[in-house]
Amino acid sequence: MQVYRLPALSDNYIYLLHDPSSNTAAVVDPAEAKPVLDCLRKLQAKLIAIFNTHHHQDHIGGNGELLQAFPGVLVYGGAEDRGRIPEQQVFLQEGDRVSFADREAEILFVPGHTRGHIAYYFSPIAPQEMGELFCGDTLFAGGCGRLFEGTPAQMLESLSKLRDLPANTRVWCGHEYTLKNLQFALTVDGQNPELQARFAEVKAARSRSEPTIPSSIGLEKQTNPFLRWDELGLSNAVESNAPLQTFTRLRKMKDQF
Ligand code: ZN
Ligand code: FE
Repeated sequence: MQVYRLPALSDNYIYLLHDPSSNTAAVVDPAEAKPVLDCLRKLQAKLIAIFNTHHHQDHIGGNGELLQAFPGVLVYGGAEDRGRIPEQQVFLQEGDRVSFADREAEILFVPGHTRGHIAYYFSPIAPQEMGELFCGDTLFAGGCGRLFEGTPAQMLESLSKLRDLPANTRVWCGHEYTLKNLQFALTVDGQNPELQARFAEVKAARSRSEPTIPSSIGLEKQTNPFLRWDELGLSNAVESNAPLQTFTRLRKMKDQF
């Protein structure tokens, strides 16, 4: 399974999964149809599935047009998003499995950004291979999604699930927000040498207009304050004495950053 990262709208990423052996493709969160159709044309591949993480327009905007171009496409989304993703046909819950090519994705229910948000985790086919996580607007490189429909406690639980995945899991998130996220991270975790090094790398990459995605669970655990609610340095920085309080304060500070 080959993953193609397609920039869309102002700062979204669409991910096209291609199976060269059957020449079929699936797409994660098609913000718009055109970049997907262009990529499919180049690959001469047939689209068979749309994997939506949540109902926001910048993640489902291309569904309708893609369905018109490929009428056999199956549209997947979270069970809690029933009625909010107009073309949805498959309603997924925690622990469900969906297959694509020779791979299988496990569904993780990760509410917080929205109440129906899900993530797709493809575990590695061999131990030395990387797993692939498509997490929409739940976990970002260096940050996490805003809490539009969920509580801090829900988001903390959702992010805990993602943090528990193997360190060598590639993280494919919904937006290119990394530089701004790390600027915030430095204000609360500035003594962290891994964070400092990552910030320098990301700054250089962005100045060359290069993408900073995919990240990895290992790197996020070292540098993303929203996965570090139980680190002493961070709880001290926000004057908190409990993980949930640390997370809640970090999220509030980021909202105002
Ligand atoms: Zn969203
Ligand atoms: Fe989004």
